Amino acid sequence: MNTERREVLDRFLDEMRAEFPRFRIIKKEESPFSKAIDVALRIVTFNGQREFMTRYYTVIGDTLYVPQGFDNFDPVDVVITLRHERIHLRQRRRYTFLGMSIIYLLLPFPLGLAYGRARIEWEAYTETLRAVRELKGEQAMRSQALRQRIISQFTSAAYGWMWPFRSTIERWYDEALKEIERQR
Ligand SMILES: [Zn+2]
Repeated sequence: MNTERREVLDRFLDEMRAEFPRFRIIKKEESPFSKAIDVALRIVTFNGQREFMTRYYTVIGDTLYVPQGFDNFDPVDVVITLRHERIHLRQRRRYTFLGMSIIYLLLPFPLGLAYGRARIEWEAYTETLRAVRELKGEQAMRSQALRQRIISQFTSAAYGWMWPFRSTIERWYDEALKEIERQR
């Protein structure tokens, strides 16, 4: 593994542990709890979310559950993902664990119209965009592939169709790009 890229990740993990001393990483494949969530998600999304174990990161409390193959992922990509997850840790601190769970899982509905989850995820995906710009550049942030991938997270089964109105998400996306542009 490229040492310079590895160092970017190590530095970030130090920052993360300084801000969240109880932060820890657990591999989903070694976690019975994650396997149980995987089964539940397959049921409630009619098998639309089949990649919980293999592609998605999940933060619960101070624990980050990572997908299969985590040790071989590109360290810079991992930092981009961890920047997103750090926003969820901060949200949990802001809303408390119970408050965050209610907003994320129940408001106003658990599936289909989960506006609470959509706003929570939007804040984190805005950070994803910021991290992509800082670590991979302006062009990477503006890539159509990234845009399609992020928008589809909101409108598909990935997060239980959290906000299936594509035009709303496209508007948020354009506003976020402008906002990031202003901050430079
Ligand atoms: Zn997220």
